[in-house]
Amino acid sequence: MFQINENYLQLGESYLFSTIAAKVKKFTASHPDADIIRLGIGDVTLPISPAVTESLHRAVDEMAVKETFRGYGPEQGYTFLREKIAETDFQKRGIGITPGEIFVSDGSKSDTGNIGDILGDDNVVAITDPVYPVYLDTTIMRIGKSNKTILLPCSEENGFLPEIPVQRADVVYLCYPNNPTGTVMTRAELKRWVDWALENESLILFDAAYEAFIRDNEIPRSIYEIENAERCAIEFRSYSKNAGFTGVRCSYTVVPKALKTKTPDGEEVSLNQLWNRRQSTKFNGTAYIIQRAAEAVYSPQGQKEVDEMVSYYMQNASIIRKGLIEKGFTVFGGENAPYVWMKCPEGGNSWDFFDRLLQECHIVGTPGIGFGAEGEGYFRLTAFNSIEKTEEAIQRIKEWTL
Ligand SMILES: *Cc1c(COP(=O)(O)O)cnc(C)c1O
Repeated sequence: MFQINENYLQLGESYLFSTIAAKVKKFTASHPDADIIRLGIGDVTLPISPAVTESLHRAVDEMAVKETFRGYGPEQGYTFLREKIAETDFQKRGIGITPGEIFVSDGSKSDTGNIGDILGDDNVVAITDPVYPVYLDTTIMRIGKSNKTILLPCSEENGFLPEIPVQRADVVYLCYPNNPTGTVMTRAELKRWVDWALENESLILFDAAYEAFIRDNEIPRSIYEIENAERCAIEFRSYSKNAGFTGVRCSYTVVPKALKTKTPDGEEVSLNQLWNRRQSTKFNGTAYIIQRAAEAVYSPQGQKEVDEMVSYYMQNASIIRKGLIEKGFTVFGGENAPYVWMKCPEGGNSWDFFDRLLQECHIVGTPGIGFGAEGEGYFRLTAFNSIEKTEEAIQRIKEWTL
């Protein structure tokens, strides 16, 4: 009989969003007139911007004409996009990343999971708790549940920032600005991690999906702003949240040429070459039209439009944050991230708070426990709804007698 990858059987069922949907459905069935406001969504709601749409249309027309039609593109992404990325996201900010270190892809979810393909199974992988579930689940798919996966607890005591592990960790996933806690790492904090990784010859997998939401200029937007990070870190970037590409699908991963490790025989290997080999074997590139859409993000008009979308969401984040603080809640995040992370009042648990917020305020959020055990007692609200709905929701919370 054929066999499966039994690691998949060790994965916990992902009940979070299905449980939320079932609870909301049940509530609306018994309260058909309730005006439910969703502050639980981790998806954008504003449409892709005009500059992006125009570029997309032009690219579709090119594909429909014999002279400009394009078949398979480079697996690493088209040069026109990789050059724009290197120049705008890095070189203009004084970071020496070159197009050859950039791999265009169809999403950071895939890349943060697939990166495990080029890593050895014996690595100890450190993952924060609470966490974006992809890092943990893809690690379990690859090596199974084992003591080679360690959790770094993030709690109120450490400001929801992980401590550097005391035991050996070969690989660590960091995501800043963070989903779900909305917290950020200062330059000094991130430098501690880079210095630790260099000293221990460990690898940092840095998910910067939310860098565009950083308002404070002191907060690093890329791990490569830290000296020598190109020798110990891979960075993941996505157009999903800043440019509204969750349904369009485009992202990129930076694997610096300076990032190297050694085989047990002492032979030096370049991760850039390995990832290139992996991508050219298993991936045939992101659609041409989508890469043209991403290119438009870098035009002056595109940058302006994307900035406006991000500002719109950050205005929501600010409304949520201020409102919750006024109500007396303990609040984290929401200043440089589209997520506000709050402590459930009176030591309550996440699901009880979810139920009360739904039943008494008709607002849907996300229970912190859904992101890991350390998330128990906390709750995530997102800034991706409309400003009108967000204001209405906060008004309801303010008038709520708990
Ligand atoms: C939304 C999100 C991404 C982006 O994923 P895509 O596959 O590019 O849409 C990456 N990391 C985190 C933590 C996210 O929340």
